[in-house]
Amino acid sequence: MMKPKIWSPAIWLFVFLISVICHTPQAFPWGSNAHERMTDAACDSLPAEISSFFTKHRQELAYHANDPDRWRRELLFRIGLKYEKDLNSGQFTAELRQLFETHGIEFPQDASVSLRGKDGRWFITVDEQEYPIRKESDKLYLLGDKINLLENRSAAPVLLGSEEGTHVVLDTKEKLLSLTSLNVYKTGDPSEGPRHFLDIDLYGPYPFVELPHNYDDAVAKFGEGTVIKRGLATWRIANYTQLLSEAMKSGHAEKIVQTAGALAHYVEDIHMPLHVVKNYNGQLTNQHGVHQRFEDDMVDAYTEQIHLTPKMASEIEDPLETAFDIVLDSYVYADNLLHADRQAKLGEDSYGTPYLEKFFRFSGWIAVQRMSEAASATASYWYTAWLRAGKPELK
Ligand SMILES: [Zn+2]
Repeated sequence: MMKPKIWSPAIWLFVFLISVICHTPQAFPWGSNAHERMTDAACDSLPAEISSFFTKHRQELAYHANDPDRWRRELLFRIGLKYEKDLNSGQFTAELRQLFETHGIEFPQDASVSLRGKDGRWFITVDEQEYPIRKESDKLYLLGDKINLLENRSAAPVLLGSEEGTHVVLDTKEKLLSLTSLNVYKTGDPSEGPRHFLDIDLYGPYPFVELPHNYDDAVAKFGEGTVIKRGLATWRIANYTQLLSEAMKSGHAEKIVQTAGALAHYVEDIHMPLHVVKNYNGQLTNQHGVHQRFEDDMVDAYTEQIHLTPKMASEIEDPLETAFDIVLDSYVYADNLLHADRQAKLGEDSYGTPYLEKFFRFSGWIAVQRMSEAASATASYWYTAWLRAGKPELK
């Protein structure tokens, strides 16, 4: 494990100056748009032979860069910092109620609804009728024919769901106290999830030589179930590089754009330090929700101060090995990120604005660095797929 570092004011001044110097006019919200932003930057990092095709399709590429998350689960809506006060104060305000209602989750004025835990199990109670909730790590599922997944990555289990005829209201008395945001999802393809990460530190000590990089060898050594559970991102990237080459050979523009967008997503994901470690949500160090606090909450709040500076694309000799190298690079940032979260929380009783302000000071540079690297790597994978396809003319 790396020793956490304390960052001196000089470093912060440096990071601040760099971000001022590198200021560009476009500012996208991170949150669900992080992938859009990195993919957009990748379009500007390509050699002349292919840059016109990618810049022409930059909007569609940015859209398709979010496809893999759509396959995994569909975000219905997010209750973000805007509602922090309501959530923390225990109020279910008219505005919150309306937010739910616009998404088809209704609340009758007279129903008494609450969420509560009992013997480690969770229930939604609607007019005294209990609906059990299934809990899997930090995700909660409301059991029913029509399952809605509501996930709260910012706090201990809190959730509400809705099915036909069921009405839900937030009961904030118990576990909502440190809640800053709540995502409401619909479930998708369950096999998609593991393709977005690789928890490399489950394979012994750095540099994790225990894990064979060849997929069949890894499966032979650890069993398929284990390999899948620990994450498949590197193999997915190699596979998608191949698929992109094939799409380019076929000359089918839409197919190229879709495949390139999905490839961008996987490449960008493994640049996020918490996509490559077992403590991916701070759950092992009592820092539940750090994943979202970093990639959504913090960068949402400070997006204007995060400017990407990707390098130009270059040919990748071995797409699989490069993906493993990226995982190792990302890994070394994870401890710093977790340390920054702990430091920022000191003296705060919630993960609200004062916390976020500190968290950004301590870890904003990690977002800038990893997102910039992700944009250049994405461009390099696209470029490599094109070289391997025999440099076809893209139009
Ligand atoms: Zn993802």
